[in-house]
Amino acid sequence: MAEQFDSVVEQCYTDLEQKIRDAGMNNINLERVRSAFEVAARAHDGQKRRDGSPYVTHCSAAAGIIVDMGMDEDSIVSALLHDTIEDTGLTHEDIARQFGADVADIVEGVTKLTRVNYTSREEEQMENMRKMLMAMSKDIRVILIKLADRLHNMLTMDYQTPEKQRLKSLETMEIYAPIAHRLGIQTVKWELEDLSLKYLDPVAFQTISDTIETQRPALEAFMDRMEEKIRTRLDEWNIQCTIYHRIKHTYSIYRKMYAQRLELSEILDICALRVIVDNVSDCYNVLGQVHDMFNPVPGKFKDYISTPKPNGYQSLQTTLLGAGKDTLPFEVQIRTWDMHRTAEYGIAAHWKYKSGQAGVKEGDEEKFAWVRRLLETQQDSDAEDFLSGLKVDMFADEVFVFTPKGDVVSLPAGATPVDFAYSIHSAVGNSMVSAKVNGRIVPFGQELQNGDIVEVLTSKSASGPNRDWLKLAKSGPARTKIKQWLKKERREECISLGRDMLDAEFKRAGITMNEINDAELVPVMLKKLSMSTMDDIYAAIGYGGLTAMKVANRFRDELLRVQKAATPRTALDKMNAAAERRNNRDQNAQHPIHGVLIAGLDNCLLKFARCCTPVAGDDIVGFITRGYGVSIHRTDCKNYQTGRQNPDGEGRWVDTSWAHGSEDSYVTSLVLRSVDRNALVMDIALVLTSMNAKVRSLSARGVGNGLALTNLSLEVKNRNELKAIMARLSKIPGMKEVSRANG
Ligand code: MN
Repeated sequence: MAEQFDSVVEQCYTDLEQKIRDAGMNNINLERVRSAFEVAARAHDGQKRRDGSPYVTHCSAAAGIIVDMGMDEDSIVSALLHDTIEDTGLTHEDIARQFGADVADIVEGVTKLTRVNYTSREEEQMENMRKMLMAMSKDIRVILIKLADRLHNMLTMDYQTPEKQRLKSLETMEIYAPIAHRLGIQTVKWELEDLSLKYLDPVAFQTISDTIETQRPALEAFMDRMEEKIRTRLDEWNIQCTIYHRIKHTYSIYRKMYAQRLELSEILDICALRVIVDNVSDCYNVLGQVHDMFNPVPGKFKDYISTPKPNGYQSLQTTLLGAGKDTLPFEVQIRTWDMHRTAEYGIAAHWKYKSGQAGVKEGDEEKFAWVRRLLETQQDSDAEDFLSGLKVDMFADEVFVFTPKGDVVSLPAGATPVDFAYSIHSAVGNSMVSAKVNGRIVPFGQELQNGDIVEVLTSKSASGPNRDWLKLAKSGPARTKIKQWLKKERREECISLGRDMLDAEFKRAGITMNEINDAELVPVMLKKLSMSTMDDIYAAIGYGGLTAMKVANRFRDELLRVQKAATPRTALDKMNAAAERRNNRDQNAQHPIHGVLIAGLDNCLLKFARCCTPVAGDDIVGFITRGYGVSIHRTDCKNYQTGRQNPDGEGRWVDTSWAHGSEDSYVTSLVLRSVDRNALVMDIALVLTSMNAKVRSLSARGVGNGLALTNLSLEVKNRNELKAIMARLSKIPGMKEVSRANG
């Protein structure tokens, strides 16, 4: 037996239920909706909106907007409950128990967004803010409910103080309308913009709306005539169509006035007709007919069917000049029903498809590819996952946090207060003594979450960073700054720490200092590592610039070589002697060539092998060619792996390493194996552009079985940069394998 409320509240539910029935949503469990309504009504009992109506009217109005968007049952239930965690005693567990974990998670998600403190800032901050809100809405339904909530609040904004009206309108214009736009939900976007304009520029808003109202009868009559003409013509040609007309929304007229510096009376194309047909070929047929009937305005025709907008919008768009006495220009949008739904409801449209059909159609992957593009989804989930999980992991490699002043800071995912501090300024990081997240002191290693407010406490007497911080810092710049500080401020400590670490490593490798001294290795190794004293090496190990293991290994290799020196003269010795003859001037330091140091060789011809295209940071080895100097290979190169077993190569493979601090860049090749699909090259190019990669060449070709092979040649500074690029490439939809060319 359903609970009874007073008549206002009851009416409110009746309206919502009617709306669901009118929308033809037969698969909605109305009993569950009713229970959610009752829970909300009871929880908000006694609370009033500013206009004096019971609070639950807001909840059901938000739910109504969600119904308009065509969203699913959980969304409607969550919309009814969206303010219960924030404003009533209800908890996540309470909601989960009665309505399931999904609904509880969504309501909690909306609550988190509600708690984000908004302050108006410059555009870059706005973009971070929008990204953060979307990133916080792990489930896309959270942001849609937030939009519905905001829309209803804007609809009832008249009852708020002028100050609040302005603040909320600014926030709506800067944050929520762009999010609605990005998600392609035009209807909501337009309403949000018009409502915001009403409070942000009331005079202009009033003038525009008044003018439109005065002209409305004439404009309606005009559009009726145009509509009739078009309908008659399309009937003659047997083209099935539905035609709507509308007057453009106030904010778009307002923006045009400002952008083009026009008077209101000069803005003529405020009428828009929409012709909706059954298939794409009819779209082009209709276009041909209307261009035949009216004069198209030059430069106004846009084909968004062959080239959709980034948010998925598709239509043919043209502006026509009425004929005869009807000389007003008017816009015509021509599209199919599918395109129409996407244009109106954007990302929400796919719940419409889902609710109408048992399963997901084939071809949906293509249809929702834009959703992924638009959300810059980082995970490599396929469309099936995306639809069934209803989860979107946007901006997965970034986390957005606030400074105490409300600035948004973007950090790599997994970042800690250490990263945050160094992102503000290296002096802040170096003098950090404690960190607070959301007002509570936390360990420096705590992983930051989206929306956290992070505060760093500093002191002049801070002891500064230590080596452990290198493990806590997740961002490259923070680690670099810590290393710089350690190198500069803690040299003595680093030296003694580094010496201990290297001693331990020598012990493990079975090397004694005596052996090293006997073999007179120290000068050789200093040269190799581009250091001037052993202390430099110790210090480098101490601050983390070199690893003790690497240094010990190289000492050992060198020792082994010296011990083998009794063997007959090798090719290396010959070249070495030649090099020495050529270069008998300054022998104090070894000079890297293209950033590479070759054991015992200086000033020789050097080239990078085409088979494996090594870059700085790769483990490399050199091969003394006959007459062409030294060719540098990766140690995992197939040619090296087979070549070193060849007796002919005896003594010709030489140790090589990368010099420190080289500024050279290196050309390398990648091979991409993927599904052969439309826009593949564009997606690859987008990733490369977004990573500022210097591309030398890119070519893709189909190799049968629905697969494609892409060869890519690019210029990078080092292995880390290459790895980051490869990681991003491998997340492109349909990508199967990203590998380096080898052999
Ligand atoms: Mn609300």
